[in-house]
Amino acid sequence: MAKQPVSQIGWFHAVVNRLSGDSGRYAAEYDYDTTPCIGCDDYCRCGKIVNAKVTSVSVSSLFSTLTDQRGLGKSPSKNVLLFWKYCVDRTLRAHKVWQPEHWDVGISDGYYGEEVNGGYMERHLKDAIICSINKLAVAKTMGDMLLILLKEEYGHVLPELKEKKWTIKMVDRDSIIVPQQDHYRRLDSEVVKNYTGYELPSAVVLKNDDETFRLIDGYHRLAATEGKDEVLVLVGK
Ligand SMILES: [Zn+2]
Repeated sequence: MAKQPVSQIGWFHAVVNRLSGDSGRYAAEYDYDTTPCIGCDDYCRCGKIVNAKVTSVSVSSLFSTLTDQRGLGKSPSKNVLLFWKYCVDRTLRAHKVWQPEHWDVGISDGYYGEEVNGGYMERHLKDAIICSINKLAVAKTMGDMLLILLKEEYGHVLPELKEKKWTIKMVDRDSIIVPQQDHYRRLDSEVVKNYTGYELPSAVVLKNDDETFRLIDGYHRLAATEGKDEVLVLVGK
């Protein structure tokens, strides 16, 4: 893949800025109780929020907020744009951003007692994601960025993935060979379901000497494309 265009580095910084602010707060669903009124005159103004907790977090909602193109300037080429989104999505998922225990409920004072103003990602999780995005922003090529993503997810990079040239393309689903059949059969069906309608590359594959591809990363995402003739993948060769 090509060198990372300068504009895209700015786009990663935009993601960091949005994360640093509270722009992801509507991605969380939450539950809470309000204390009963202790004797206000007209409207109740004394209610306190108690037992507040985040119950679920929508990765796709957070992803949409962070990758909103408005205000980012001229869009890069289609594949560069796609890869930028891919980097953000993989980073959010590698950090398991959907786990409600890493989110807090924001509470503020209002004229009618305390009110809830959204879900807030805990500082340590936010910092970890920002650190990952900053690494991507300074990577020189998109191939380097892909290796950073794989290292985040698996802790190391398979030696054979280094020194490859990477492209994004549609390939016949049948041409992708799944080397770990046992793993493929035991995939978490909930995770697979979450990838239904996924519009970003569904797998990282290596081109074989014939017209087939070996699946490296993306077992769940590939499983979610069952029934499709073609799938979008990142191909290394
Ligand atoms: Zn009251």
